[in-house]
This record gives sequence, C-alpha cells and structure tokens, in this order.
Amino acid sequence: MVDTYRHKGLRKKLAEVLAKKGIKDSKVLTAIETIPRHLFIPDNALHKYAYEDKPFPIGAGQTISQPYTVAFQTELLELKPRQKVLEIGTGSGYQTAVLLEMGVKVFSIERQKALYERTKELLPKLNYNTKTFYGDGYKGLPTFAPFDKIIVTAGAPYIPEDLLAQLKIGGTLVIPVDEGESQRMKKIKKLSATNFETEDLTLFKFVPLLKEKGQD
Ligand code: SAH
Repeated sequence: MVDTYRHKGLRKKLAEVLAKKGIKDSKVLTAIETIPRHLFIPDNALHKYAYEDKPFPIGAGQTISQPYTVAFQTELLELKPRQKVLEIGTGSGYQTAVLLEMGVKVFSIERQKALYERTKELLPKLNYNTKTFYGDGYKGLPTFAPFDKIIVTAGAPYIPEDLLAQLKIGGTLVIPVDEGESQRMKKIKKLSATNFETEDLTLFKFVPLLKEKGQD
C-alpha cells in the first residue's frame, strides 16, 4: 500500500487530461488528483498504468471504471456537502472514494461477494469510511432511503423503479442505460413523486448491471 511522489505526479497529469476532455468541476478534479487509484487495482502488475485514462480488470469479471467516466458521472450529480448518495456497483471502491472526497455520505451496494469483501476492507485502510452492502442494486436500499442522489456504475437494461422511488423530490439519478453495444448516460431529476425530467447525454461502455446477488 505505497503511494509515492511519482504516483502523485501521474495523477496530477491525469486530472489535467480529464480537464482537457471537458470535466469542469474543480472539486472532482481535486478528488482525482488526491486518490491513489493504483491502490484500488488488485493486480500489482497493472499499477504502472493506473493513471492512464482507462478501465482495468479488478477480478470477478468486473472493471474499475475509466477515470473520465467516474469524473463525468460525479460531475453530473452536482453534489453538495453532506448529501446522502446511493451508489450501485461498489466494484473497486474508486468511485466511492471520489464521492467521499466530495464531502457526501455514501451507501454503496455490490452484488459480487468477493469484490464486496475486498473493498469493504480496503476503504477504511485508505481512510475512507462509508457503508457498503452486499446485495442487489436493482432494489436499492429502502431502509436508508430517500437519497439526494443515486449513481449506477453498471449498464442497466432499464431504469429500476425502486431507484426512482428511493430518490428525494428534487433528487437526481445518474444511470447508463443500454442502447445495444453501449449505454446512454441519463440524468434523471425527480420533480414530484410521479414526475421526472430526463436528460439524455453521451454514450459509454459499462459492464452490465446483473440481477440478484452473484458469485460469478
Ligand atoms: N464503481 C466501480 C465500477 C465497477 S464496474 C469502480 O469504479 O470500480 C460495476 C460494478 O457493478 C461491478 O463491480 C459489478 O459487480 C457491480 N454490479 C453489477 N450488477 C449489480 C447489481 N445488480 N447490484 C449491485 N452491483 C452490481
């Protein structure tokens, strides 16, 4: 678990790359500059590439999202300190760390037991304290609802009703929704209990949001 000046220099460059690609929120860029992304990648052989703007395998057939994607989704959430955020797809915990750096309270769900267990141990070691859950993200977390913001970090075949129901009025859901080979990023604002405003953004490539809990 070593962080070095070289790593720090590389992530400063990564933040500059993301700014050039269009990320404007300075708090998001500072989070990218602060978080030791290499420590979220389990395969040490990949650490030298950790500050390239690319996804990498994290085991269980899953990936740590590309930094641009993480930054783009985080920016869309328009986070204010102390807001309550539900994250679907904890994975490596990197996106969770970005959210925590933004000063919000995070509840994160992962359906892969192995990833859930690894990340639950890793986050506190890096001083990221949050609530992680092993479960099915389609169902959200009714016990802790409502949330100011919800972020889905896997490609959803449709927009889960339970997630819309667990948003506060005025809250936002950021979710990539399947469109053939890729997913359309959607920003959905809850205007009232039954009324939603959807903004369709650009296409991304995510691993799929799968049903139920799984070991696969
Ligand atoms: N934010 C993570 C992204 C990991 S990829 C990171 O940057 O590391 C998406 C994650 O969603 C995977 O870990 C996958 O196992 C998880 N996932 C897929 N379907 C899910 C579901 N129904 N509920 C919760 N997590 C799910």
